[in-house]
Amino acid sequence: MKKIAVLGSTGSIGTQTLDVARQNPDIRIAALGAGHNTELLERQVREFSPSLAAVWEEKDAAELRIRLADTDTKVVSGMEGMLELAAWPEAELLVTAIVGMIGIRPTMAAIEAGKDIALANKETLVTAGHLIMPLARERGAHILPVDSEHSAIFQCLHGESRGQVSRLLITASGGPFRGKRPEELEHVRPEDALKHPNWSMGQKITIDSATLVNKGLEVMEARWLFDMGLDRIQVVVQPQSVIHSMVEFEDGAVMAQLGTPDMRLPIQYALFYPERRHLSGERLDFAALSKLTFEAPDTDTFRGLPLAMRAAEEGGSVPTVFNAANERAVAKFLKKKIGFLDIYRIIEDAMDQHRRIPHPDLQQILDTEAETYEWIESRW
Ligand code: NDP
Repeated sequence: MKKIAVLGSTGSIGTQTLDVARQNPDIRIAALGAGHNTELLERQVREFSPSLAAVWEEKDAAELRIRLADTDTKVVSGMEGMLELAAWPEAELLVTAIVGMIGIRPTMAAIEAGKDIALANKETLVTAGHLIMPLARERGAHILPVDSEHSAIFQCLHGESRGQVSRLLITASGGPFRGKRPEELEHVRPEDALKHPNWSMGQKITIDSATLVNKGLEVMEARWLFDMGLDRIQVVVQPQSVIHSMVEFEDGAVMAQLGTPDMRLPIQYALFYPERRHLSGERLDFAALSKLTFEAPDTDTFRGLPLAMRAAEEGGSVPTVFNAANERAVAKFLKKKIGFLDIYRIIEDAMDQHRRIPHPDLQQILDTEAETYEWIESRW
């Protein structure tokens, strides 16, 4: 029996994790955590009977306690609740399917409690990778990637010597605006940016894909996950999203992982690693697949990637500023308070005004996040 806790169970990754659980009766859902979608969480609790459910607001928790009075599920709230969920003794693995830096503390709490992590919440590694990876090594916790690109790399590395890797090649679809010029992007609307050509995902990551910020976050995530220098991570645009990422080895061999765009595959691989299991769904049809094409990313138009590289190279607290500024900018764009290209302007301005902390501890990371939010609110 694989006993898991899912933080962010009502979102895109969370619901797909529960789909994987439906198909694998030897998964026991020990705990579920969500933000505000108590209706879906209630249904999930009734279906999977976890012993713990966590929501963000205490008023939602109070209501949920009444609605779930006929069950044995304990309902908790707030960051305390998320931390309780992360360290829940009945779970051996935490799926971090929550969005944003709010995932840092639960992820660290789970590692400290000896859990493995199936990591979807990339913002956590981007901003606190220097704390999380050493902690995981110290506690013997496995960090298993859920992001499809990182899972692809992880699959390509299976059975290989890490010392013989020369480059990681992270693929990108290019997003819905691939091929457009900056002047064409000035007035695009959230509904246009939310139309990802290949993947169906949560709102924030879909906007991040349109700006290429997501690819930048993935480079930073890969750097920590695979302990790789930034100069050995390259982004390649592969518009059909068939190749999920590649690894080049010292002898020039390139290994790639291909598949249909279905997040349940990397989720299931992380849950059962190193075992592979049957997964229902479409298979690649190579006869129908007319072409596989590759391009360099257009970094003049999609400045999310070069801005992320700048943050990664400067390091310390700068990736936190990059990430926090992006989170706030994306939220404003979704509410139509700013334009698409303002996302880049906000990130750049926030990084320009920041005084870098070389080795931030957790409190300094959280303070940097709060200061970045405050600075943006005072300016935009
Ligand atoms: P969604 O927006 O679909 O879901 C986010 C989840 O987090 C929801 O369950 C939401 O709950 C929960 N949540 C938000 N705020 C809080 C809070 N304060 N307390 C508790 N729970 C909270 O996001 P995705 O599933 O798309 O993405 C999740 C993470 O996975 C992100 O870091 C993303 O970058 C990464 N990822 C996603 C991929 C995808 O295909 N979607 C692919 C690769 C990585 P509620 O809805 O109830 O408010």
